[in-house]
Amino acid sequence: MGHKACPAVKPGMLNVHLVPHTHDDVGWLKTVDQYFYGAKNDIQRAGVQYILDSVVDELVKDPARRFIYVETAFFWRWYREQDEATKATVQTLVNEGRLEFIGGGWSMNDEACAHYNAVIDQMSLGMRTLYDNFGTCGIPRVAWQIDPFGHTKEQVNLFAQMGFDGLFFARIDYDDRKKRIEDRNMEFVWQASHDQGSDGNLFTGVLYKHYSPPPGHCYDVNCNDQPIMDDSRLKDYNVNDKVADFIEFSKNKSKAYRSSHIMMTMGDDFNYQAAHMWFKNLDKLIKYVNARQAEGETVNLLYSTPSCYLKALHDSGLTWPSYQDDFVPYASDPWAYWTGYFTSRAAQKGYIRKSNNVCKQLTALFQTEDMTSHPNRVDILRNAMAINQHHDAVTGTEKQPVADDYVMRLSEGTESCQQAVNDAFSLAGLPKQSFCNQLNTSSCDVTEGHDQFVVTVYNPLPRAVGHWVRVPVTGLSATVADGDGTVVESQLSPIPEEVLRLPGRTSTATYELVFRADDLPPLGFRSYFVSVSASIAVSQHMHKAPRQAPLSNGHVTLDLDPASGRLARIRTDSADVAVNQTFMWYHGYGSDKNDPWEPQHRPTGAYVFNPVADAIPIQPKDVVILEGPLVKEIRHSFAETWVSQVTRLYTGEPYAEIEWQVGPIPTEDGVAKEVISRFTSDISSNDLFYTDSNGRQMMERQRDRRSSWPLNVTEPVSGNYYPVNSRIYIRDAASQLTVLSDRSQGGASLASGQLELMLHRRTVQDDGFGVGEPLNETAYGAGLVVRGRHWVLLSDPAEGARLHRDLAQRVFMAPQLSFSVAEDTTVEEWLSGPAPKQFTGLNALPVNVHLLTLETYKTGQLLIRLEHQYEAGEDPELSQPVEVNLQDLFTTLDITAVEEYGLSADRPLMEINRFDWNYNTTASRQGGKQEAGQRDTTADLFMVTLNPMEIHTFVADFQTL
Ligand SMILES: [Zn+2]
Repeated sequence: MGHKACPAVKPGMLNVHLVPHTHDDVGWLKTVDQYFYGAKNDIQRAGVQYILDSVVDELVKDPARRFIYVETAFFWRWYREQDEATKATVQTLVNEGRLEFIGGGWSMNDEACAHYNAVIDQMSLGMRTLYDNFGTCGIPRVAWQIDPFGHTKEQVNLFAQMGFDGLFFARIDYDDRKKRIEDRNMEFVWQASHDQGSDGNLFTGVLYKHYSPPPGHCYDVNCNDQPIMDDSRLKDYNVNDKVADFIEFSKNKSKAYRSSHIMMTMGDDFNYQAAHMWFKNLDKLIKYVNARQAEGETVNLLYSTPSCYLKALHDSGLTWPSYQDDFVPYASDPWAYWTGYFTSRAAQKGYIRKSNNVCKQLTALFQTEDMTSHPNRVDILRNAMAINQHHDAVTGTEKQPVADDYVMRLSEGTESCQQAVNDAFSLAGLPKQSFCNQLNTSSCDVTEGHDQFVVTVYNPLPRAVGHWVRVPVTGLSATVADGDGTVVESQLSPIPEEVLRLPGRTSTATYELVFRADDLPPLGFRSYFVSVSASIAVSQHMHKAPRQAPLSNGHVTLDLDPASGRLARIRTDSADVAVNQTFMWYHGYGSDKNDPWEPQHRPTGAYVFNPVADAIPIQPKDVVILEGPLVKEIRHSFAETWVSQVTRLYTGEPYAEIEWQVGPIPTEDGVAKEVISRFTSDISSNDLFYTDSNGRQMMERQRDRRSSWPLNVTEPVSGNYYPVNSRIYIRDAASQLTVLSDRSQGGASLASGQLELMLHRRTVQDDGFGVGEPLNETAYGAGLVVRGRHWVLLSDPAEGARLHRDLAQRVFMAPQLSFSVAEDTTVEEWLSGPAPKQFTGLNALPVNVHLLTLETYKTGQLLIRLEHQYEAGEDPELSQPVEVNLQDLFTTLDITAVEEYGLSADRPLMEINRFDWNYNTTASRQGGKQEAGQRDTTADLFMVTLNPMEIHTFVADFQTL
C-alpha cells in the first residue's frame, strides 16, 4: 500500500487517529479453534470468523473506514475458506489500505518466555503468508505487542531487523507509565541492539492506558456503553455529551504525547463480531466531533491505522527521546508483579523449547517435503510452535484445557516431523528410526525391550560436538560399539528412585546406559551398536563413594561439606569459590479457603508471583555419591519427598549438571508453593546480575533499581525477578558463576553472591487477571512432576562468554537420539551392512557462527540464517567479525545463487526501507555496522561478513551433488 492511502490530517489541529481493532488471542480461555469458530461462548463470547466476515462487509460500505488485523493464524484460517469473490474484495481492501495487516506474526508472541529462534520462526510464518498472498501491500509496517506482559530488548531488535518502522504496546510498569506521561516520554526511539547501531533502532509508542477505547466509547456488541443517539426528536439524545466527553479525553491524552497527533485504539478483545455497531457509531462520532470545527474546535477525528499515525509522527520532524533498557518485569500495581508467568507451566515451557529443533535441518538437507502441498509434515510443527509462542501459551497463563490443546498440537507436530526426519534418514541409508519421546522419564520401548539396538545421535549444530548419551535399559551390562567396530567406554547408572516412582511411568528400566558420542559431525550423525546383557559386569556399575573426598572431572572440582554432603565449593582451572545450592520454596499469598483478598495480599497465580516472605529452605536428607569412569554423581534427597536432584560431573566437561525434579507439589494444606533452586556464593556481585534477553543479548540488572524511574520497592522478591530464557550470571573481578537453563524460568539475585531460578509452581487461587483459575497442574491424580536441567559454570569472567555462548547452544540444540532394533544382527553384520555409520551435512562453521536456520524455502530453495553469536567486547577473539563462504557450507548440496532477505524471510533485503528518526541519545555503545541494504554488490555474493550479533538471512538456489 505504501502510505498513499493514509487519510489526510489537518495541520494546526489535534488529529485523533481512530484505529478500529480487535485483539484476538490465539488461545487463552478457549482453544484457538474454539475462538475461531465462536464455540463454547458460555466461556467467552468470541468468534473470530464472525469478526472478519463482518468487518469486510462494513469496510466495503465506506472507503473512509479502516480496520487493522493482527493475528495471521486466525486471518489465514478465515481467508483460505473464502470464495474467489470475497478473496478479491479482501485484496482490494488491502491494496487500498482500508484493511491493513499490523504485527503480522502467526500469533502476538510473548516476549519474556519466547526464545529468539522461535520468535523469528513465528514472525516469519505470519509475514511470509501475508507477503505471498498480498505482496507489498500485505507487509505489516508496525509491530503491535499490545497485550504481552512486558517487553524485551532483543524482541525489538528482531523487529527492527524484520523491517518494521515502529512498535506499539500497552503494558509497562505503573510508575514508569506515570513518569512517562508526566515527562511526555510515551514515544521514543528504542536503541535495541548493543551492537548493531541504528539498524537495531525502533520507534516505540506506549499506549495511553491500555488498548481499550476511551471510557464510555465502546460500541461493541459485547459492551454496555451507550450508543450515539442523535435524533433530537427521540428520547435520550446524547450527541453533545458524547462529543464533549470524547474531546475532553482526547485533549487530556494529548498532554502525554509530543506531536499534534494521538492514536485512539477503538476496540478490545474479540471486538467487531457485529462490526456494524462499531462503525455506525464511529461514523457518527467523527461527524459530530468534526462538526465542532466550524465553531473553532481544534480536534479532528479520522479513521486511521497505526502505520498512518506513525507516518504522521515521522512527517512532524520532531526529535524524540531514546531508550536503551527494556520493560521487564511488568507490574500493574505495587503488589502485582507479573513475574510468576516466567515459570508457570514449567513442563509446557520445556516441551516448547525441546520441540524447536525436532526436524528442520535434516528435512531441508534431504528435501523430504513437497513445498507445494500445505500443510506438509514440517508445517504442522511449525504451526504448532508459532501458536505456542502466543502470550497466553508459552507464558502458561491459559486455562488448563487450552494448555492441553497447545501440548497436543506440539505432540502431533513432533510426530509428523519425525516421520519427515525418518524419510531423511532413509534417504541417508538408515533403517526406520524410533524416537522414544518418553526419554524424559527414562523410558524407551526399543532400548528396554531389546537386547540389541542401534542408537543414532544426530547433531543439529554447525560444528562437531560431543554428547553424553543416556538410554534406559533393563539389562545389567552393555557393550557399545562405534561405526569402526571400536568398543566405546560405557557405564550403567542406576535410575534415581524419584524417577522410578514417577506417576504414570510404566517402564521396567532400572539403569541408564551412559556413553559419550564423541565428535558428532556438524549437521550429521553417528550410529552406535549396543548389546545389552543380563549378566553383571561389575566394572560398568557406579560405586558408592565416601563423601569427604572432592569430586573432579578434570576441569570442575566439587568440594562437599563433610557433615551434610552438600556442595561447599566449586573449583575450576580459572576460578575457585565457595558455593552452596539448595531447594527452597516461597509461600504464596492466597488460600483455597477463598478468603477475601486485599490488593497487597493479591494471591500468587498464573501471572503474578506474590510471596508472603523470603523462601523457606527444604532441609537435605540423604546424600549418595556414585562414581563411575565416565560420570560422577551426587544424589540428594530432601526432607520433602517432592524435590530431588542429581548433580553430575561428566569427564572432561567444563560444567556441572544439576538435574532437578520437582513435584507433585503438595497443596493439600491450602498453601501455594513456588519452588526455587538457590545458589549462594562468596562472589562479590553486590547488587548486579545478568540475564539474557530472549536467549540472545545479555542485560545487566541491578537489584531494587530501574534505569528510567525511581523504583518504589514494594515487592523485594518478585519485583527483582527477571525472565531467564537461557542463562543468568553473577560475577566479580575474579569469578563468574553462570547457570544455563533448558527452558524459560524466572530468576533473580536477591543478595550479593546469590542467584536463584524458579523451577515449578502450584497455586491454590486465581490471581484476578482473567484466567479465572488457579495454576494447578495435575497428572495421574497428583500434582504434575517436572524434571529439568541446569548447567553450572564457574570461570574467570574473561572466559565467561566463551563458555556460556557455546554451551547455551549445546543446551538449546542438543543432539537428538533415535533408535532401531538390531536383534537378529551381529555387530560384525551391522558394521559390514549398507547403513552408513556416520553422516556429515555441513562443513564446520567457525565457533562464533551459529546456523540459526536451515529450512526448505520454496521448491528448490533453501532458507539459511547465519548468526554471529557474540556481542562486541565479550571475547577478544570470538567477538571479532567473521567471514563465511556460503558455497562452502554443505557437503551434499551446491549453492548456485543467493539473495539476502530481511530477517522475517518474507522479502529481499533490498525491498526494506525503514523510516529514519531524529533522536537524542546518551548511549555509549554504538555498533560499527554499515547500514542495511548497503552490502557491497561488487564483492563475492557468496562471502558473508558477520559482525557481532548480526543475523543474515539468505534464500539460496542449490543443486544436489
Ligand atoms: Zn491477549
